[in-house]
Amino acid sequence: MFDIDPCDEILFLEKEIDASDVFKKDCKLIAIEHLLGENDLLKTGTKLTLDEKKALNLNPRMKFTKEFLEILTDSAINSGCPKGLVWNIRTKARVKHYITTTITQAKACAFMTELKFFSSCNVDRDCSWCISQHDIVFSTNVGSEEIIRRINENCTCDPITRSCIVWAK
Ligand SMILES: [Zn+2]
Repeated sequence: MFDIDPCDEILFLEKEIDASDVFKKDCKLIAIEHLLGENDLLKTGTKLTLDEKKALNLNPRMKFTKEFLEILTDSAINSGCPKGLVWNIRTKARVKHYITTTITQAKACAFMTELKFFSSCNVDRDCSWCISQHDIVFSTNVGSEEIIRRINENCTCDPITRSCIVWAK
């Protein structure tokens, strides 16, 4: 039996892929390898020509490959900004992975019972909910799933909160 680490970044990538409509369903494994940088399809694939990019309404200054586009849904390609959508998935997964790891590590320390949000409180970068959460203390018992649920439901930062989670002492 496999012992899956709940802090494994792959689990967070999978969740973000499932919650979005960016990658074709049968391309999830290739997508994860791409997102982890283990098989970067933008580096290894066949580059699109200028005319091919224009035909798909893609930014002609950006580099795209056939292999990269092959794993994307039509709606992701037609969005005009498929690289941005893919980047957002990676960013969201990384932030949630970071939050989960931070809270899990804090829970393992007997003296670290309280954490708090730390926002830059920059009105141009952070949403009003993130700013409202700055310095708010929560118990490590609240758990990472609940904290991520609150972020999912309230944060309107694009693509996700930039707040850190720090020790409250
Ligand atoms: Zn926010």
